[in-house]
Amino acid sequence: MEKVVIVGTGCAGLTAALYAARANLTPLVFTGIMPGGLLTTTSIVENYPGFPEGIDGYELMTRMQKQAERFGARVQFATVEAVDLSRRPFKLTVDGEPFETQTLIIASGASHRHLGLESESLLEKKGVTYCATCDGALPMFRNQPLVVVGGGDSACEEATYLTRFASVVYLVHRRDQLRASKIMAERTLSNAKIKPIWDSAVMEILDVKLHKVTGVRLKNLKTNAEKTLDCAGVFVAIGHVPNTQIYKGVLDMDENGYLITKRGTETNVPGVFVAGDCADHVYRQAVTAAGTGCAAAIDAERYLAKLNQ
Ligand code: NAP
Repeated sequence: MEKVVIVGTGCAGLTAALYAARANLTPLVFTGIMPGGLLTTTSIVENYPGFPEGIDGYELMTRMQKQAERFGARVQFATVEAVDLSRRPFKLTVDGEPFETQTLIIASGASHRHLGLESESLLEKKGVTYCATCDGALPMFRNQPLVVVGGGDSACEEATYLTRFASVVYLVHRRDQLRASKIMAERTLSNAKIKPIWDSAVMEILDVKLHKVTGVRLKNLKTNAEKTLDCAGVFVAIGHVPNTQIYKGVLDMDENGYLITKRGTETNVPGVFVAGDCADHVYRQAVTAAGTGCAAAIDAERYLAKLNQ
């Protein structure tokens, strides 16, 4: 039986792993389908303290994993499919195999939100994507007009990154003001290759019949006027949904699926702790995720110490 199992290897999970490992708890860490979490899809992280020149997201996460492993964390590429938290030890099903653990730290992060259009899902990977750093350099997008949807930091980051490859980047936002942080918004709007299209929603991505993206049908939400914009790719960057589906009905969560914590990182089930984006719809930064990961490991360690008194 494990003392500590950690679900997720983003900033929260790996920081929890580092702290639990240094407390001699040899945590078992399951990566889920995206080892390193969403940060691995970021090109340069400029706001993680300690890296004045910025650091590549993938490199940062690789370093965090190495640091946790150096102290005895065991990282496994596997996905937790089901949990039974009704009694201790908790029972997990991981890629079909049973595991038991005394404590559980959930740091399963969040996934990209989709627009919810039929044409979006039919054209996914045929020009519709959720990650500029992963897909932006593909030949199909080179020297072509591209569309980024969204108005937050992610959309600004994606749009700026894509200017390396695109002929022009249209930033389609449903309002007339960006939600992004000031520095990101200013950088984006002052980039000559980025053309904002305000107050607009994507109604359809064209052309499903051709099995590739040729444009988008847009609706101006103020005038209801519709127009078609030619483009070779659509990069959707409209926020995230927490990866908490398997805890539904077991752990307290809000109406959007974010896990609810009380007293630090505790959940409604004693011995189950939460860290990072799966419980945070407010800050959602790498450094805040790392902070709650640290807190969750300390909470788990103290919980175990009390159990064994
Ligand atoms: P976000 O801040 O929640 O922004 C989502 C954007 O998508 C908003 O502009 C929103 O419009 C729009 N949107 C949401 N649902 C939509 C829909 N169905 N159709 C069309 N548009 C929709 O998400 P994010 O940009 O992914 O950022 C998440 C967090 O990560 C933030 O805290 C951000 O600061 C952080 N982040 C930081 C960095 C960095 O510092 N380098 C980079 C990326 C992300 P409205 O504005 O109208 O709501």
